[in-house]
Amino acid sequence: KKKLEEMANRDGLTGAFNKYFMHKTLDNVFNGNRRQNSLAIMDIDYFKNYNDKNGHMEGDNLLRSLAQLITDSLRDKDMLFRFGGEEFVILFSDTSKEDAIMVAERIRQKVADFVFPFEERQPNGDLTISVGVAFSPSDAIEKQSLLQIADERLYKAKSGGRNRVVWE
Ligand code: GH3
Ligand code: MG
Ligand code: MG
Repeated sequence: KKKLEEMANRDGLTGAFNKYFMHKTLDNVFNGNRRQNSLAIMDIDYFKNYNDKNGHMEGDNLLRSLAQLITDSLRDKDMLFRFGGEEFVILFSDTSKEDAIMVAERIRQKVADFVFPFEERQPNGDLTISVGVAFSPSDAIEKQSLLQIADERLYKAKSGGRNRVVWE
């Protein structure tokens, strides 16, 4: 029974927690409280290109290895969710702004350094991610606002040149 419940919270492709469980978890964590929690939204750079050049199946494999790499980089208390097709959310609970930025930057660097299959076919010859981070309580204390702020910062990271973390 435990196993089935656990699986219901997971995304079948990547093993990350799914979007349904993300909303449930974030509703609990950002319940208008004043504790220090943060979240990051990350999105693969030029993933459409990766699919176009290598096929959808290799795209799926990439999503799996990326999720594994990120999971390995997280601290025990952090949680990884698959938010959309190629977008992931990380929850940093009980974490200062400085520490959240540090962990997000460490993950970005690790992904950039890792050599993924076929990444030489990417526009910059590298498979990278862009990341937007938002903080509670300093930016907002509600789930929806924090997701929106993180998403705006992700957009800034994209327009600023990708392969970067934006936190303001
Ligand atoms: P950007 O750097 O601006 O993020 O560019 P992008 O190409 O990553 O962004 P875009 O939104 O144009 O493309 C996202 C691609 O992600 C398109 C879609 O086919 C692919 N994708 C989404 N979900 C999946 C999936 O589950 N498997 C595979 N293989 N591809 C997926
Ligand atoms: Mg996207
Ligand atoms: Mg993308």
